[in-house]
Amino acid sequence: MCEMQIKLAENYGFCFGVKRAIKIAEKSPNAITSGPLIHNNQEINRLKTSFNVSTAHDMSEIKDKNKVIIRTHGIPKNDLEDLKKNNADVYDATCPYVTKPQQICEDMSSKGYEIVIFGDIEHPEVKSVMSYSKTPPIVIRSSEELDGLAIKSKVAIVSQTTKKHEDFAKIIASLSRRCKEVRVFNTICNATFENQDAIDDLSREADVMIIIGGRSSSNTKQLYKISKNNCKSSYHIESDEELEKSWFEGKKLCGISAGASTPDWIIKQTIEAIKNI
Ligand code: SF4
Repeated sequence: MCEMQIKLAENYGFCFGVKRAIKIAEKSPNAITSGPLIHNNQEINRLKTSFNVSTAHDMSEIKDKNKVIIRTHGIPKNDLEDLKKNNADVYDATCPYVTKPQQICEDMSSKGYEIVIFGDIEHPEVKSVMSYSKTPPIVIRSSEELDGLAIKSKVAIVSQTTKKHEDFAKIIASLSRRCKEVRVFNTICNATFENQDAIDDLSREADVMIIIGGRSSSNTKQLYKISKNNCKSSYHIESDEELEKSWFEGKKLCGISAGASTPDWIIKQTIEAIKNI
């Protein structure tokens, strides 16, 4: 009889925005999503099989569809307006933490502020946020990119939701040296950092750690790295099929965490499989 305890990290897996998007998709059978709803193929396949919710990889694929789900990162304002003009039923799963910087850009640019966005210009979330500015925004990935840029004396700054607070602070400091008025809107989302803090705590007390998530998921890899630092017996798996009995021999506490795109049903399946080992 195995006496090993299993403990989940205080925060793990799907964030609030992704959970909300999945619920919207489950309530919108036969719809098409504007890009992959989340970065987890097993979950996308489940939505396809159970609800016939399919994924478009390009706006051209959804232009003539009548049931469209907007993914968590949002889409450019013009594309959204085009869909509505075409009388499509639009189910907006844009995360409220992304809607907020969209609204700030629209509002502050109409009040004459130059908009600065801290983020990656190629990222879909940044593309959607910048489309709401009434004047062309400045998009930068670091404070160094501000050097040599002409900038107005009145600016409003927002951040891509996944950026680090420390880097955002550097940009704000740099702007405040150059501009008379800097309006700062902290639009960073803490969901990813909360998962990281929680695994940091749990991996200090557990003697074996299982981290569930896609091999290519960068936030799962980051969780694994933090865990391995504290607990030598840390293992990154995609599903319960990879579990090995020897990992748990002589262990008293097994800690579990999962990347932000790992669905609950894969986590539950893994816990059951560990219990049965
Ligand atoms: S902004 Fe935060 S809560 Fe929203 S989808 Fe992104 S990580 Fe999740």
